[in-house]
Formats: sequence, C-alpha cells, structure tokens
Amino acid sequence: MTHRVINFYAGPAGLPLPALERAQEELLDFAGTGMSVMEVSHRSKEYDAVHEEAIALTKELMGLPSNYKVLLLQGGAHLSFGMIPLNLLRNDKKADYIVTGNWAEKATKEAKLVAGDRVRVAASTKEQKFSRLPHADEIKVGPDSAFVHFTSNNTVEGTQWHEFPKVGHVPYICDMSSDFMWRPFDVSPFGLIYGGAQKNLGPSGVTLTIIREDFLEMCEAQDLPSYLRYKIHAEKNSLYNTPPTFGIYILRNVLAYNKSIGGLKAIEASNKKKAELLYGCVDKHSGFYKGFVTEKAHRSVMNVDFFLPTPELDDQFVKEAKKAGMVGLKGYRDIGGIRVSTYNAVTVDHVKTLVDFMEQFVKTNG
Ligand code: PMP
Repeated sequence: MTHRVINFYAGPAGLPLPALERAQEELLDFAGTGMSVMEVSHRSKEYDAVHEEAIALTKELMGLPSNYKVLLLQGGAHLSFGMIPLNLLRNDKKADYIVTGNWAEKATKEAKLVAGDRVRVAASTKEQKFSRLPHADEIKVGPDSAFVHFTSNNTVEGTQWHEFPKVGHVPYICDMSSDFMWRPFDVSPFGLIYGGAQKNLGPSGVTLTIIREDFLEMCEAQDLPSYLRYKIHAEKNSLYNTPPTFGIYILRNVLAYNKSIGGLKAIEASNKKKAELLYGCVDKHSGFYKGFVTEKAHRSVMNVDFFLPTPELDDQFVKEAKKAGMVGLKGYRDIGGIRVSTYNAVTVDHVKTLVDFMEQFVKTNG
C-alpha cells in the first residue's frame, strides 16, 4: 500500500484520497479516449463534460442563485488582486478594503496600484499584528463605495469571519482562497468571490471565481488585455483560452467527492469538530500552547496558529511530528510558531492523532 502522511500544509494542501484515486484510475485512459485528460483537446466533448460538471457542482454545492456565473481562471488570487480593480473600479469608482492580514494587505496594495486613493482602507488590525478582526464600530465604509473587499479567512494569522463584516448594503468582494466551500453560506451579498483552488478544492493553477451578473455588467472596460476581462471569460464559459484542464479535472473529482459525502453541511460539521478538538487542547494547556489570535470568536476553523514556550520547542515539535507522520506544521515565516491547517481533506481522525501527539508533547516537555 502507498504510504500517505497526515498533511497539515497551508497550501497547496492535502486532497481527499478518493479524488486522487479516481485520477489514478483514469490517468492513462480518460473517458475511453486512450489518453490522459492532460492530453485531450480542451475543445473535445470528453473534456467539455468535465468542465461543465465542475461548474455545475460548484453551483450545486454552494447553492448559487441563477444570477451568478462560475469562472475557472488562472493566475491565483494574485492576478485577481489586480483584475478586480482593473475591471470594477473604472470611471472614478471607489471601494473600501478591510485589512486583516498579510493577504488582505497585499490585495489592498495591488488595488491601490490600479486605482490609487480610490481604494480606501475601511479598517485595519495591523497595529494588533492582525491577531484579531476589526469590530463593527471600527469599520468605516463610504456611502459611495462600489464594493467592500475582505478576506474571509486569514491563512497566515488564523482569523476567520464567522459572521461577515457589517457594511450596510454595499456588496462584498471576497478572497476565499483558504475557506472556499467549507460550509454553506448566503451568497447574495457577494458581488464577486475568488480564490486559488490549492487549499480546499484542488491543485494550484485554477482560480475559482464567482461573479454576480450586475458585477459582470460593471466590467465595461474595453481597453484591458483580453485575458484580464471577466466579461470575456464569462461569455466564453471559461474557454476563451486553454484552461488548466488537469486542475479543473481534479477540482471536478474533489467536488464530486464532496457531494457524495453529504455536501457542505456535512463538511462543516467535520470542520467544526476538528477545530473544537484542536482549540480544546490549546486551551487546556494554555500555559504551554499559546494561541496567536486574541479573540476566541475570531479563531479560524481552517488555520490554527499557536506558539510553544520557545522557538526551540517549536522546532522540536515540528521535527517530532514529522517523525510521527505529520507534516506541514511550521508557522508562516513572518509569525513563526506552529500553524495547523485543517482544510476539508484533513479528517477528524487526523486531528485526533495530532491532539494525542500534542498531549504527549506537553507531558514530556511541559
Ligand atoms: N489570499 C489568501 C487568503 C491566501 O491564503 C493566499 C495563498 N496562501 C493568497 C491569497 C495567494 O494566493 P495565490 O498564491 O494563489 O495567488
């Protein structure tokens, strides 16, 4: 049997085994073509079926109303950081950005490169080293705002908006890179949602983008290079250029698997259980494991950050965990400590194994 580790990487991250096994089975002869999906034309009916299924499953799992379009793009969140203002902040339009972490800050900087002062900071918790989210009374959104941009899960710092920010009736644009499809939610306040697939959805190289029709209509720019225009991708059903076919194929496998296990409701229950186990252990040994996030209500269900009493113990923890078959636990370089990423493919049993290890580690080193 193939040896598989327990994967806590922050992204690219672990994928559900059945989705990978399906790819393995179908690798050399995809849909009776005598070729792998990587070798088939993106204009073939066999590929088209996968493309359509990935889009249909996204709509079904997320319960998207008919006025939303699903786009399968490239360039990761990074390209989206620029595409969003290029398409949506034309003709003196203004937007408000909520800065809650490393990635939210990057999104804001990139938007400012495009739209300068028309990109405003609605709130920032940089002074608190992004160890919490802003409170409702700290968020200032202009009445003339075209959208409020926020990052629903801050991958580096381990904070997450369990209730989305209160911004009146201004539509949201949201970077969901690190918490796409971990739970059901009401999509109707969102004009656009985007994120790379490489955490909850598939391999890197596919950027899932969901755009509401009125936002698509706002993308009137004719002078942008074609690839940067959301409207063209929507009109061509994400087949304007050669899409990342293998990535979309894996995305399809992951989504089909997600559906087979009960969809986002079932996935949410498992994610909540994992978070409960991990934070339970951190809180039980709060003299040894120190959480990075200062307000419990802001703790992420996807990325759990904590420190041991010394950086040496952090290193030892990572090394010993690796020996025990668990990888990807080293904290992000700017923060240090430990980061446990528990995306959808991480099972409750994986987390139980880690928690047992954490208990043992305190006993030996605490
Ligand atoms: N936003 C968030 C919340 C992320 O976690 C990441 C990747 N870690 C990015 C943006 C950047 O994504 P990409 O590398 O796909 O551009």
